[in-house]
Amino acid sequence: MLKHFITNNHQFKPSDPEYRRVYLINGMLLSMVVIFTFFFFANLAFFALYSVALLDFVGAALSSVILRRFQILNNVRQAAFQTISLLGVFLLVYLGFSAPDFYSLYWLCIYPPLVFFLLGRKKGLFATVLFFALLALLLSWLEPYWPAESFPLEALLNVVFATVCLVLLVHYYEVSRHEVMQALANQHRQLQRLSVTDTLTGLYNRVKLDDILSREIARSVRHQSPFSVILADLDFFKAVNDNFGHMAGDQALISFSDILLQHCRELDVAGRWGGEEFLVICPHTDITGAKLLAERIRSTVAKHDFAHGKQLTVSLGVASFMRDDDANIILKRADDALYRAKSKGRNCVEI
Ligand code: GH3
Ligand code: MG
Ligand code: MG
Repeated sequence: MLKHFITNNHQFKPSDPEYRRVYLINGMLLSMVVIFTFFFFANLAFFALYSVALLDFVGAALSSVILRRFQILNNVRQAAFQTISLLGVFLLVYLGFSAPDFYSLYWLCIYPPLVFFLLGRKKGLFATVLFFALLALLLSWLEPYWPAESFPLEALLNVVFATVCLVLLVHYYEVSRHEVMQALANQHRQLQRLSVTDTLTGLYNRVKLDDILSREIARSVRHQSPFSVILADLDFFKAVNDNFGHMAGDQALISFSDILLQHCRELDVAGRWGGEEFLVICPHTDITGAKLLAERIRSTVAKHDFAHGKQLTVSLGVASFMRDDDANIILKRADDALYRAKSKGRNCVEI
């Protein structure tokens, strides 16, 4: 029940970067509703402080409105800003009128950590400085009305320096938190890139090709637009390794992937399917267009001077998406076409 409430009806999951902010905003607003309501009744019933009770009532009402809106709109930034503003105004009013009494200035120390956490380091710093500037103005304005010697200079200096230290510490803490999050996000991006990249050629690997193929099939079904795949396999590649060494084989694979990239249009995706087999996915391309592309790749490879000094050829199988195909079916057709190209003597394109 509480979890339900505090995560805006499970709109925010623990993996969400905003999760802790949402948690804190809901927690703060709920506490504010409870505290304001409590003091509203206490001031009304026991202390006969009617103007303060009115203020408590306004506080409880505004907190409830912000809370309700947040639960419906899920706008974290807006709710953070409104919560911080409401709390800031009420702290200013409270501290303004009770600064010399009850050690009430202690409440100052909750504001900077909350603001930095909810608004981030830059806006947090700005909001903190604004808050303390307003408080200083208010206190200097009210100070003549305080009882004599209620706040000696030493006490004031203590509060000011301790507060500056607190703000610096919280800022430092927020900066380090931000840096850690940045580093994690970078590492995550890097790992994500690595997980879909073939290390030798830098092309997409099979994981990514599978993913793109599924998406392309879904897109074709939805928009009834054609797409094709080309499966390419270097001919007698084992001989390159056997005669010139594995390094020469690797170099030839890299050169071949460069040729693929040269011929692919912006929407085409080329990747390494495995070993010396490559797959090109051509969106919005029918069988004629794909065959033309495959033919161009074949003829460029046949003319290319590979680093090991010998010619290489490639065989290619082309297939187009047909209704009711899944990834396995269309790949099977491309593979069958490739097999035919091999049986016909290699260095050719079959559809
Ligand atoms: P075919 O014309 O019938 O395709 O003959 P092939 O020799 O190309 O085919 P086969 O499947 O017999 O051999 C593929 C070779 O590709 C064997 C394997 O060592 C080589 N190979 C696969 N991956 C790599 C790689 O990453 N680097 C190198 N250097 N060779 C690789
Ligand atoms: Mg092969
Ligand atoms: Mg081969």
